[in-house]
Amino acid sequence: MKTDNSRALFEQAQAFIPGGVNSPVRAFKSVGGTPLFIKRAEGAYVYDEDDNQYIELINSWGPMILGHKHPKIEQAVLNAVQNSLSFGAPTQREITIAELIVSMVPSIEKVRMVNSGTEATMSAIRVARGYTGRDKFIKIEGCYHGHGDSFLIAAGSGAVTMGTPDSPGVTKGTAKDTLLAPFNDLEAMRKVVENNKDEVAAIIIEPVAGNMGCVLPKEGYLEGLRELCDEHGIVLIFDEVMTGFRLAPGGAQERFGVTPDMTTLGKIIGGGMPVGAYGGKKEIMDYVSPAGPVYQAGTLSGNPISMAAGLTMLSLLNENPEVYTSLDEKGAYLREGYEKSLKDLGLNYTINSVGSMNTLFFTDKEVHNFEDAKTSNLELFRKYFHAMLDRGIYLGPSQFESLFLSTALIDNDLDRIIKANHESLKEIHGK
Ligand SMILES: *Cc1c(COP(=O)(O)O)cnc(C)c1O
Repeated sequence: MKTDNSRALFEQAQAFIPGGVNSPVRAFKSVGGTPLFIKRAEGAYVYDEDDNQYIELINSWGPMILGHKHPKIEQAVLNAVQNSLSFGAPTQREITIAELIVSMVPSIEKVRMVNSGTEATMSAIRVARGYTGRDKFIKIEGCYHGHGDSFLIAAGSGAVTMGTPDSPGVTKGTAKDTLLAPFNDLEAMRKVVENNKDEVAAIIIEPVAGNMGCVLPKEGYLEGLRELCDEHGIVLIFDEVMTGFRLAPGGAQERFGVTPDMTTLGKIIGGGMPVGAYGGKKEIMDYVSPAGPVYQAGTLSGNPISMAAGLTMLSLLNENPEVYTSLDEKGAYLREGYEKSLKDLGLNYTINSVGSMNTLFFTDKEVHNFEDAKTSNLELFRKYFHAMLDRGIYLGPSQFESLFLSTALIDNDLDRIIKANHESLKEIHGK
């Protein structure tokens, strides 16, 4: 496969942009080689600057759940553009999208729009602290909540793969208010809470983790967190930046039937534009300025173009519940294909999947938390990643990422992915 243009661009980029990219994981550091510079995409396919075509399994890390260039979303953006790009003043569309989010996401009674998932989680923690009058919060090892200072502690994918789980620049003072517990371990969580009695403002968690690879909550785990938070007056925050509008119209909280106090959203909510949101119980959200004392603001928040894309995306998802049946079917089909290959090749690797999220872990251990995920053979993943890329399949460039399926994938695409997976596994094991 010819990648001369991407190579040349990567060279050029490194002169002007740190590491040549505007977000670290894009640099392919953990898998080696040259990142693909992307020219365009359509439906389930993405094309690089050397005009190679790939089947999309990154989908902008989630937002392109309906495939690239969805005609309705594209049209909504083109229409909105004609009325200017930004006002910094309220618009009617912001009410419409807020109302829709409230109707879709079980925990959300009021919502504030921001510009990224990072902003959403930073703000949610601030509000939880303001509301409870407590300073500390608990995060889960291997969960990622964006690059806010207080979250860059055992932070999953990007941070892990870069080998800097604790970033320089985060002060000890900040880090000391972030407490940690492993995923799927209620007992450990209970201990942390009890050791910090009346000091914990919030527990924040990806209800299905996607940033240590895909890791599902064990039966009763989310329910247990809910009870623990109720017992101790702790704000339970589900970070559904990845799972929101993906695992169900109402996210993982709908799919697993556990309602947090607050929810953070991003990715799909903007339809591909930079958008995030946080919301929750009225009582908590009314602490947000100007209704309440907790300050949070944004010059471009609720931007009309972003809202047009997001509103169209959410409306499409809300009005077409069959999207989720179809995504679940595609996910199950892919998983079956992968399982068959593993069996036929005599390999015992672990697949974690739910709906349209899926990770093949190169370990024979079951993966229920970050420690388990880290038993994966990263060298094998590196080879596998490139073997898949050579066969035209564009995966997230790290073992600690999930695949994100879109509705644009047709059966033939899925069969191509399954075949490529089989051949790649065979190749890297010299079978
Ligand atoms: C991507 C992600 C974020 C950060 O969102 P950005 O828009 O990249 O700032 C936060 N939480 C989770 C769970 C994510 O997957």
